[in-house]
Amino acid sequence: MNDQAESGFLTRRNFATVLAASAAAPAVAARQTAPPNPNPSPQPPPPRRSGPPPEVPPFQAPIEFARKDVPAKVQPFPMTQVKLLPSPFAEAAGWNRGYIECLPADRLLYNFRANAGLPAGSVQPFGGWEAKADGKHATELRGHFTGHFLSASAQLYASAGDREAKAKADEIVAELAKCQQKLGGGYLSAFPTELFDRLDSLSGRPRDPDPNAPQLPWAPFYTIHKIMAGLFDMYTLAGNQDALKVVEGMADWADRWTGSKTEEHMQEILNVEYGGMAEVLYNLAAATNNDRWAKAGDRHTKKRFVNPLASRRDELRPLHVNTHIPQVIAAARRYEISGDMRFHDVADFFFYEVTNARTYVTGGTSNGEAWLGQPRQLAAELKMSVSTAECCCSYNMLKLARHLYGWTADPRYFDYYERALLNHRIGTIQPKTGHTQYYLSLTPGAWKTFNTEDQSFWCCTGTGVEEYSKLNDSIYWHDDDGLYVNLFIASELNWPEKGFRLRQDTQFPDQPRTALTVTVDKPVHLAVRLRIPSWLSSGPTVKVNGKALEATASPGSYLTLTRTWKKGDRVEMELPMQLHIEAMPDDPKVQAILYGPLVLAGDLGADGLTEEMITGPMGLRVQRLPIEVPTFRAASADPASWIKPGDKPLTFRTTGQRKDVTLAPLNSIFDRRYAVYWQVA
Ligand SMILES: [Zn+2]
Repeated sequence: MNDQAESGFLTRRNFATVLAASAAAPAVAARQTAPPNPNPSPQPPPPRRSGPPPEVPPFQAPIEFARKDVPAKVQPFPMTQVKLLPSPFAEAAGWNRGYIECLPADRLLYNFRANAGLPAGSVQPFGGWEAKADGKHATELRGHFTGHFLSASAQLYASAGDREAKAKADEIVAELAKCQQKLGGGYLSAFPTELFDRLDSLSGRPRDPDPNAPQLPWAPFYTIHKIMAGLFDMYTLAGNQDALKVVEGMADWADRWTGSKTEEHMQEILNVEYGGMAEVLYNLAAATNNDRWAKAGDRHTKKRFVNPLASRRDELRPLHVNTHIPQVIAAARRYEISGDMRFHDVADFFFYEVTNARTYVTGGTSNGEAWLGQPRQLAAELKMSVSTAECCCSYNMLKLARHLYGWTADPRYFDYYERALLNHRIGTIQPKTGHTQYYLSLTPGAWKTFNTEDQSFWCCTGTGVEEYSKLNDSIYWHDDDGLYVNLFIASELNWPEKGFRLRQDTQFPDQPRTALTVTVDKPVHLAVRLRIPSWLSSGPTVKVNGKALEATASPGSYLTLTRTWKKGDRVEMELPMQLHIEAMPDDPKVQAILYGPLVLAGDLGADGLTEEMITGPMGLRVQRLPIEVPTFRAASADPASWIKPGDKPLTFRTTGQRKDVTLAPLNSIFDRRYAVYWQVA
């Protein structure tokens, strides 16, 4: 046998067994000897920094930018090299594409043209958070969705070669360039600079109790970031050179505006939601080799937020979640282009703390858009609002996970990634319409709500169109030696530099297995590393060309197959799922039930639900439609003793309860009331 299998990360888990098998070290039948996995839940890697935390706040020292790129350990394949095959992921991508197609360019441009004093035509402006400038319900976030739309269109072009999406987005870029010229060549938005005047003059002052007095604007830099990111994506993913010119004009304006403030005043300004301004400026600095943009990005470092994180302290309560995750993504990017370890530590500790201490079983975080409680008090926090787990927060946590994984190649980041992707991303897009959710409520008795076609445009509608236009991203990563298979999604990978193609055939998670088939022009020697998910109860069976390997690897590591690959070589891996329980950290009686990586929800029926309650509302009014949620008595610690397979695949039914309930994956439940967390005695 010329396969060489070895497990990764042997020292990180006390139950890992040495599984090296090579010509020198005969294969060990580790599958029979590996102890059962005691903890099938995702455990994030601990912070890489240890020892006493710094005594002086790390960001007290000046922030000075000097470009020094930190090489990534592993990189994702570009989306142009990975194609989705038919699967629930491809289906979701198709629904999203349909939604993107039905939004006309003129409506996406309406507020920009109106703001620039250009004819906006006779089209009907959008409503919701994109409501028009002169309307009764004008919102100060208008224009944000157009930025997301450009990002989504650029990704559709990269991921699926969608020329129609690119043509519409190219047209929008050209029209935005005209608006920018009319506004002086730098500033570009769907709202006037008056919002920035208010931001400048009112930041740091006590709020005026007079409702007629000028108030702080909603979040002007948040919106500017979305537009800049959309233009940047159109440049990098869709090759639109004009988009680069427009975004550089905006960066010039942002640099001048922020550069005219004292640092103390900028810190006050940063108390108003601004999201990922620094991230797009760092990306622009890296892409254009112009440090000026990075220095402008540095002015968006909110010291009150990053100092505790760089000192490994959780002071996240009661912060607004989704304005802060993008700041951490920016910190990750800042580390990558400078090597400044302070920024590394911010991202590293934040991810660990949020996923370990502030994340629900679905991979979602936040409650009423904020972190309302102390860490590891999630049962208590769950009672504080029904608006749990805002979708754009999961979108951004996945984005952050990609950075951290790129630095380390630690598969535990993908345990989290898979959990959030399967339970909080797939399943929050409405079949056929492609409309998406704001919150994925975990309040027992909740139901899923979705945006309207053109009267919502929440933050999560924006990240939603982005998310489902890049579902082929991050399935496969690589270094110089070989590739990493991180997600079990039917897809094809093309790696022309190595003359290597891989087809993954799987119906995962409907079927607990995957199969990889290699196509090469001539034999290629490289390593294929299979992620062994942490939710497996033991090392899985892996076959190469029909022959079972004698070695396997522990859950939460990689199985590395290093060999000379020939055309038609085939790898099959079984991924058997089991029922398991995850209890709340602060109340062991509050429990969620999982099957492998899938969070199960109990079907509580559809009585009283109407179309108006499902389409349109941002959040739920569970209290207006109370429902009795059953409680359970567990027959034993093993959930399989009282939860039995149902009559359909992936469904189950409780047994022996006062009121038995049918359970199904949360991602499959629509137009029904459900419960994820139960009181279990
Ligand atoms: Zn949101």
